[in-house]
Amino acid sequence: MNRRDFLKVAAAGSALGFAAMTPPAFASVKDVPPPKDLQKNKKDDDLSEYLKKVRQYDEDHPGDVYFDEYNWGLLKSSLERFVRLQKTVGHGNFYLLDFDEALRQAATYPSVGEFTTPELNFLETLFYEQAAIYGFYGEKPLKNLTDRIPLREVVKVPNSGNYLYRGKPVETWEAIRKILGPEVILTSGVRSVIKQFYLFLNKAYESGGNLSRASRSLAPPGYSFHGISDFDVGQAGYGQYNFTERFVTTKVYKTLRGLGYLTLRYPRDNLLGVRFEPWHIKVGSRV
Ligand SMILES: [Zn+2]
Repeated sequence: MNRRDFLKVAAAGSALGFAAMTPPAFASVKDVPPPKDLQKNKKDDDLSEYLKKVRQYDEDHPGDVYFDEYNWGLLKSSLERFVRLQKTVGHGNFYLLDFDEALRQAATYPSVGEFTTPELNFLETLFYEQAAIYGFYGEKPLKNLTDRIPLREVVKVPNSGNYLYRGKPVETWEAIRKILGPEVILTSGVRSVIKQFYLFLNKAYESGGNLSRASRSLAPPGYSFHGISDFDVGQAGYGQYNFTERFVTTKVYKTLRGLGYLTLRYPRDNLLGVRFEPWHIKVGSRV
């Protein structure tokens, strides 16, 4: 793929064919207020409108940005290919799969099938597009589509199916585990760019192509700190409630909060455009 050609298209602001329902205009990055401006300079009305969106994260809101029809088709075909790929390489390997290896594996297995050129353009554009366009203001720890998880730097966590980075992440997890025993579970650890793509596209699909809505629940590919250090915890036996605000009622949450382990990446009413995630443990650096 010719990166320079792609960037030109992206700079023109039409690469993804975003379509905002209301207001109709395509929001360019320079029009999007960075969070600190939102805090300092915007009127109270704008802030309360913003907070409403983040609190009612899984609903459509005025100003949300959607995929157009062409890219909606590519979202579906790419997502279906990711589903087949995950099934073929296995869930564990999929957490660590890098972009180039994913392409090789897809081409190797007829049951998955090679990614098409339009699909690759779609994925590349989505990765390099600035997420602020659709309302996600977080940092981007993985800057390149082809960034890899160094396999020597991760360990598989027994009984979880997940991996954690060596150093501070695994030490943090072990300390938590020592305090809470089998009551605490690791619900999500290291995620490659590919795994994040799969999760984000799946959420965008469930959201009817509403990228803003998807990004209120999940960091877009490249923007997730699961790529470099962070992880999610849950209360054993609590199932899907571990990913809802009900998690704050659990012993795991209360204990970790009391001990200062829950330095939250996405606190309540954060200005990054992300819902409150009390289960997400911010580790930051690995050393
Ligand atoms: Zn998380």
